[in-house]
Amino acid sequence: MPDNNINLIKSRLDIVELIGDYVRLTRRGKNFLGLCPFHNEKTPSFTVSPERQSWHCFGCGRGGDIFTFIMEHERMDFHQALEFLAQRAGVELKLNFNNSINSKSQAKAKASLYDIMSLASRYFENNLKSDGTAQAYLARRNLKSSENKCLIII
Ligand SMILES: [Zn+2]
Repeated sequence: MPDNNINLIKSRLDIVELIGDYVRLTRRGKNFLGLCPFHNEKTPSFTVSPERQSWHCFGCGRGGDIFTFIMEHERMDFHQALEFLAQRAGVELKLNFNNSINSKSQAKAKASLYDIMSLASRYFENNLKSDGTAQAYLARRNLKSSENKCLIII
């Protein structure tokens, strides 16, 4: 799993700057404070800690890191949030599960192509065997039935 990507993205993004795009934050000591975007409040209980790279709301109890913030705020699943933040951080994702999905569907497409080819080959074989003109032609060229298969491939 892309643990390295996660750490890389986290190291490249400033949590205060990121959440600051959604919440107006003001500095309070080491932390930043704002109105929680996840519940209705008039007194700010939403804090962001740049030191711990985390956020927490004392009003509704929600909290986490930049990934959980984007997932909750943008209603994204983890994979979408990962792509969203990777783009923002300028990190190119090399996800194994993406590759395996691609190769799986490629293998599937290949397999069905082989199926189609073998079906077509059987169809032409049968036609060849049952067609009088074709058989006469083969006889004229002295081609035996065992060689018919080769003829189809050519
Ligand atoms: Zn809250």
